[in-house]
Amino acid sequence: MPGPYLHKIHFLIIPAQIISIYASYYIACTSNPGIITPENLQKHLDYYKYDGLIYKPKTCITCKMQKPARSKHCSMCKACVGRSDHHCAWINQCVGENNQRYFFLFLYMLVEFCAYGAYLCFQVYRGMIIEWGLDKALVKDSITGEQSVITFRRAFLYVLHHDRVIGAIGILAAVVSAVVLIFLIYQLYLASRGITTNEAFKWEMVEESIDRGELFKMVPVSKKKEESSGTSTAVEGYSKKYNKKKDIVEAKEERRIESFDEIVNIYDKGIIGNLKEVFFPKI
Ligand SMILES: [Zn+2]
Ligand SMILES: [Zn+2]
Repeated sequence: MPGPYLHKIHFLIIPAQIISIYASYYIACTSNPGIITPENLQKHLDYYKYDGLIYKPKTCITCKMQKPARSKHCSMCKACVGRSDHHCAWINQCVGENNQRYFFLFLYMLVEFCAYGAYLCFQVYRGMIIEWGLDKALVKDSITGEQSVITFRRAFLYVLHHDRVIGAIGILAAVVSAVVLIFLIYQLYLASRGITTNEAFKWEMVEESIDRGELFKMVPVSKKKEESSGTSTAVEGYSKKYNKKKDIVEAKEERRIESFDEIVNIYDKGIIGNLKEVFFPKI
């Protein structure tokens, strides 16, 4: 890069940056996202329980295995992936329980790499301004004929006009850095709330069904009502079927869920717990 005013340290930082970005990219592309195998299936089934709302016991028809809660079958990876987030075209594989941390590392490196690239381009222009003596240049007003010291913005636009390639690279790098940063923040926000990208869509659907008044919850029948009716009003439902702790099935009735606040995300372990799970997965 034509940067006579760039500090010598950049000759060390630039190769280190290039190695880091490729290394993080390689790790993100090649690490196991958390593919469910017959060997680790039970471990997954034990780790995340079905909440009965966004995850119910199901069998993957392709893998012919039970689908653990939070997992998803990916037709491109041809496997069920544990705590599946999404299939990423950029790394050509799924982002799941095991490689989400590497995906975050790659995104961070990309943000940092592009921001650094944009900074270098800016510094090259600054060098050109000094080299061409533009920092001491005077501009003459065409109407009044008055002379004044050139502003930095005007000098910058002047060099940008004369060497557009570096400008184009710098702008591209800055835009990519900003876009990926927004994506990284969004992904971290979801992860901190104990939600995967896949689940974000599921929760949206739950919210919509609450708005339409279509979601019901099984709640124990109040004693008074039970006595008056004289018969059990137990309704066959999910909460009854999977209530392994109790031998006697309680009488239950359906109650409409009025607001999303009534819903509990059983996978949310608090900000620290959720991020710990992403960066130090236990499965
Ligand atoms: Zn599958
Ligand atoms: Zn995939």
